[in-house]
Amino acid sequence: MKRVSILGSTGSIGTQSIEVCEKHGLEIIAIAAHSSIDMLEEQARKYRPKYVGIFRDDKYEELKKRLSDTDITVLCGMEGLCRIASLEENDIVLNSVVGMVGLLPTLTAINAGKDVALANKETLVAGGTLVTSLAKEKGVKIYPVDSEHSAIFQCLQGNNPKQVNKIILTASGGPFYGYSYEQLKNVTKADALKHPNWDMGNKITIDSATLMNKGFEVIEAVHLFNVRPDQIEVLVHRESIMHSAVEYIDNSVIAQMSVPDMRLCVHYALTHPDRTEAVVPQLDLTKVGKMTFAKPDTYTFPLLDLAKSAFFAGGACPALVNAADEIAVEAEIALLAG
Ligand code: MN
Repeated sequence: MKRVSILGSTGSIGTQSIEVCEKHGLEIIAIAAHSSIDMLEEQARKYRPKYVGIFRDDKYEELKKRLSDTDITVLCGMEGLCRIASLEENDIVLNSVVGMVGLLPTLTAINAGKDVALANKETLVAGGTLVTSLAKEKGVKIYPVDSEHSAIFQCLQGNNPKQVNKIILTASGGPFYGYSYEQLKNVTKADALKHPNWDMGNKITIDSATLMNKGFEVIEAVHLFNVRPDQIEVLVHRESIMHSAVEYIDNSVIAQMSVPDMRLCVHYALTHPDRTEAVVPQLDLTKVGKMTFAKPDTYTFPLLDLAKSAFFAGGACPALVNAADEIAVEAEIALLAG
């Protein structure tokens, strides 16, 4: 059985990952979180990892005190995250931290020769070439946990990547699909946080509302699958059933479908190339009824194209756009009238 460390264990993907590990008997070696010590303590007591990491230094003493009756080693800060990422015991490191802060632990895991299940897309937006070239050098695999990229990865199995014509990257369109520029002036934080199909953390839900998330996902796909941005077609698919598709040079299109549930992406990343007993419900296509596809409105939602421009500009531009987005979203979450 694989031994897993989970960075970002108290977040949306983190908790769903623990569920998958529990269901399939994967051993959790270490968990780490940003600042939620109550939940981290609860997880530590329930799953008994060898190591627990807390990113915020000022929470370290308190967590250490709370876990002093256990034999768990408590680590802190970026140093702690990196120590966990490179533990000898790891077979795979699941990185689901939010933001660019995930880049260093990802690089550290790869450097230590550990496979990475990557839910932290900012890692690839900010440091794509660094990450993929190091992974190649170290012979390490990066398994996408993002639903679209997991779909693409699945559609590539058993085919020649050199024979890919294009990737169809689907987007739900977020809560403001169909809104005009004028209508967007009156939306609230609560509206933005209401994603129609996916259960995700606040940062990515806001990014979905602005389509910044889809822009980042184009960059993520370019790095993961070694394609050009012009080979990626973004289509709005409101039902979130077809999670993405690959068109080959014979014009055959292979798509991956399921109910929209991130646990399946985690599941496949952790058990690939095997498929094991389901953690998500079956897809009932008669209940879905129909699936629709449309071009995104890049006039009202300009951030999708902005991300592509940042990629073409090269250098530190994608990292800059990513940093600007992180700060803007933090302000948005804090300030927008609820
Ligand atoms: Mn996604």
